[in-house]
Amino acid sequence: MPTSPTLSREVALAARPQGAPQPSDFRLTDVELPPPGEGQLLVRNLFLSVDPYMRGRMNDARSYTPPFALGETMTGGALGQVLESRAEGVPVRAWVLHDQGWRTHAVLEAGRARVVTPLPGVPLSAFLGVLGMPGLTAYVGLLRVAEFRAGDAVFVSGAAGAVGSVAGQIARLKGASQVVGSAGSADKVAHLKNDLGFDAAFNYRDGPVAAQLREAAPDGIDVYFDNVGGEHLEAAISAMRPFGRSALCGAISVYNATRPPEGPRNLALAIGRQLTLRGFIVSSHADMQGAFLREAGGWLAAGELKAEETVVDGIDAMPAAFMGMLAGQNTGKMIVRLGEPD
Ligand code: NAP
Repeated sequence: MPTSPTLSREVALAARPQGAPQPSDFRLTDVELPPPGEGQLLVRNLFLSVDPYMRGRMNDARSYTPPFALGETMTGGALGQVLESRAEGVPVRAWVLHDQGWRTHAVLEAGRARVVTPLPGVPLSAFLGVLGMPGLTAYVGLLRVAEFRAGDAVFVSGAAGAVGSVAGQIARLKGASQVVGSAGSADKVAHLKNDLGFDAAFNYRDGPVAAQLREAAPDGIDVYFDNVGGEHLEAAISAMRPFGRSALCGAISVYNATRPPEGPRNLALAIGRQLTLRGFIVSSHADMQGAFLREAGGWLAAGELKAEETVVDGIDAMPAAFMGMLAGQNTGKMIVRLGEPD
C-alpha cells in the first residue's frame, strides 16, 4: 500500500463550453488534501467515469442536477481504494464507488461511498459501466420505462455505447423478436452484429435514419430505447407500431447544440398510434438495483452479456477522454484509468 499522498491532481471547469467542449474549457490543478476527519475516508481513485450528462452540468442552466461551478473541480463516478479510514465498517483497502471523480484522490464522508465486492472474472471498472449507473440505466429503461415484453421488436440508438450496448443485449436475452442498433461507424456496426448479437445494425452517418431503420425493421418496432434524440427519435416514431413504447433516456445529438433542435416533427403520429414516449432518470429507479445486479452478474458470469470498454490512461488525459466520448471515440464504456488494483 503506498503512503498517503498529500496532493490530489484534479480537473476543474475553466470555462463553460460553447458547442463542443475544447481543451481550454478544462484546467488541471494540484490540490492539497486535508487529513480525513471523523467518519471520513481518504480514497485513491483507480477508475474515473466520463458521462454525457456531465456536458449538461457544464452549462449554467437549471436541470435535474446543478451546474458545475466555474473554477472548481468537477464531480462524477469514481471507483477507488480506501487508503485511510476514520469510518466504522469501511476498512482500509476496501473498494468504494463514489461521486468524487475528476481527481486522483478524494477525502469524503463514508456515507457517500458504497463498498463494492469485485465479481470473479469481471474488471473492477465494470462498476462504472455494465454493473454501474449505465448498466442500471439500460435495465430500468428497457424493462420498466419501455415495458419491454418478450416478442417485442426493439430499436436502440447509441447502441455501441455504455448504455445502448447493454440495453440491446438485455433485449436479446429477454426474448426480443428483433434487436436493431444504430451507431456512428462501420466498426461499431460490425461489433453490434458480430459480438453483441444484434440482428441488424446500421451506421447513422451513411444516410437518413428513417430509411435505414425501415430497411432494418420493415415490419416496424414495438420499443425504442432513445439515447440520441433528434433525427433518431423522429425516425423511431415513424417506425413504431400501434401501442409502441419509447424510453427517452438521452438526446446526445443535441447536447452540444447552440440553437433549439428542429424535431421530431412527427409527434402527432403518437396520437393515432397510441404511443407512449416516456422520459426517465435512472436515480429515480434505485429500487431496481438489487434485481439488476443479480441478473447482470449472472449474465456476465455465464458469458451471455458482453461489456466492452475504451480505456484512456491518466488524469491529464481526462478532458480528452470526455471530449472523445462525446465525439464517439468509445466503444462500450469510456473509462479513465489512473492505476492498477494492488
Ligand atoms: P455512450 O453511448 O457510451 O457515449 C456517447 C456516444 O454517443 C458516443 O460514443 C457516440 O457514439 C454517440 N454520439 C455522439 N454524438 C452523437 C450524435 N450526434 N448522434 C448520434 N450519436 C452520437 O454514453 P452513455 O453513457 O452510454 O450514454 C448514452 C445516452 O444515455 C446519453 O444520451 C446519456 O445522456 C444517456 N443517459 C441517460 C441516463 C438517464 O438516467 N436518463 C443515464 C445514463 C445515460 P457514435 O459513434 O455511435 O456516434
